[in-house]
Amino acid sequence: MNPAAANTAPAAPLNAVPPIIRPRGERWRLIAVLSLGSALLAVAAVLFWFNPANGGFYPRCALHALTGLHCPGCGGMRATHQLLHGNIAEAFRLNPLWVIVAPLVAWLMLREAARAFADRALPPKRVAIWWIWVLAAAMMIFGVLRNLPAFRWLAPS
Ligand SMILES: [Zn+2]
Repeated sequence: MNPAAANTAPAAPLNAVPPIIRPRGERWRLIAVLSLGSALLAVAAVLFWFNPANGGFYPRCALHALTGLHCPGCGGMRATHQLLHGNIAEAFRLNPLWVIVAPLVAWLMLREAARAFADRALPPKRVAIWWIWVLAAAMMIFGVLRNLPAFRWLAPS
């Protein structure tokens, strides 16, 4: 027996994948993404099967109930129901801003989910702050315009 061979541990293959060790923050990100994703899927399922246009258990817009004015979000749940059924034109009639913004929101959420499920830590990707200002300005302008007689077509009918 060769004594040198007996002391040699089996060598790991050169291309062995190191174990995935997630930093604590990454694990919490995964839990947050799974929780938020589950909640959003549940809300989407409810909106798919129960049309908000038929009333029921959905919350009503407080601004519209009190003043008769349409806020930027008015018609959003009905529009989401129509989007989930593929009726883009009907969704656009209910809330055109949401029809434009919803795919961007979905893309951002899918990107975050993909990052959380990636098997290695990825550098953070943030939405540029000016995008948030553009969205806030668009919501304010949209909220004003859809209450003006000339832009009634922006309000849900
Ligand atoms: Zn509203």
